Amino acid sequence: MNEPEDLETFCTYYEVLARKLVRPEQRAALGEVLAAARSGDDFTQPLRRILGTVVPPDSLDQDASSAYLLTELLRQAEIPFRPTIRSEGPTWPGTSVGEPLPQVFGCPARGCTRLWVRRPGKNIPVCQVDGCPLVERSPTA
Ligand SMILES: [Zn+2]
Repeated sequence: MNEPEDLETFCTYYEVLARKLVRPEQRAALGEVLAAARSGDDFTQPLRRILGTVVPPDSLDQDASSAYLLTELLRQAEIPFRPTIRSEGPTWPGTSVGEPLPQVFGCPARGCTRLWVRRPGKNIPVCQVDGCPLVERSPTA
């Protein structure tokens, strides 16, 4: 079972991973992760396969979680990664006192918890988990 945080991480970083991981076996494994994320199948095994293309496969703990495998994959691919802190509950971006309320979009997919703040000149991203563009959210919805 894929955790919402893992789907969010994958959804957020899929495109940059796809740009970095260009070897045929990496593309194939990334495609498997994407297919599993979309079908709701556990993506730990394809994650392990793709990480095994950048580190010695024997060095991977058999019990490594999807969260660990994703984080390590981003680290090995030299992609800056800032994990979402969930201990205090999801925080709404830019809701400090005195700041204008940003236009916030969220993934339409069940299970994916990605949020995205609209920036000038940026197209609304597509959720990698269900293939649809993110939809506008409000702090109360
Ligand atoms: Zn998503």
